[in-house]
Amino acid sequence: MKLRMMTSRACVNSHKKPVEANEGYLCYDCLDNLRWSLQKAPEALQHLREVYTLRRTADLEDETRPLKKDPPAPFNLDAFQLAEDIWIALTGDYIPTGTNHRQMYTMAYNKCQDKHAGLQAVVNKKEVIYLLPIIKLTRQALYKYPLEEKARATLLPCPECDQKTIYTPPQAFEDDLEIKCHACGFTIPPEKMEFYASLAEMERQR
Ligand SMILES: [Zn+2]
Ligand SMILES: [Zn+2]
Repeated sequence: MKLRMMTSRACVNSHKKPVEANEGYLCYDCLDNLRWSLQKAPEALQHLREVYTLRRTADLEDETRPLKKDPPAPFNLDAFQLAEDIWIALTGDYIPTGTNHRQMYTMAYNKCQDKHAGLQAVVNKKEVIYLLPIIKLTRQALYKYPLEEKARATLLPCPECDQKTIYTPPQAFEDDLEIKCHACGFTIPPEKMEFYASLAEMERQR
């Protein structure tokens, strides 16, 4: 027993009490959670990329699935930071500039697959601690920005009466997203969205 105590090591992830590591430097729970987040991270990253900026990159033609657009104004710094943190945990690098949501997914998918395939080797290295933040970050991302979006208030004021506007995500693939004023009922026409967003952005900067 004593010998076993001395040879066993504790899971390197933070636990309330030390937990014995079962695989390399991780306990079974953390290993499961790591597997889970490697599966979920690509979708979470793609979604964050969609959320943190509306600006579409030049790939409108071969749209196979709808872009779940977020209210245009303003740039979502929190979502951006989350995406950046997940990517850093995965790669040790920043997200390359100009990455669109689809490239984001593909890049993340490949990274996660690699990690997943080599998980045995990964957990046997102490460096696994640098990867572990993706568990918490992926959970946070999916909690704060669920893939199934709900209607919510936007930061874009109503162009008619300056009250709060409510964003309703598209229900079906071809549907437009809708941004509607909760006070006067004014609906921002989809084609005017960018225009009002940039107006609001200019207002803020004044
Ligand atoms: Zn653990
Ligand atoms: Zn209004």
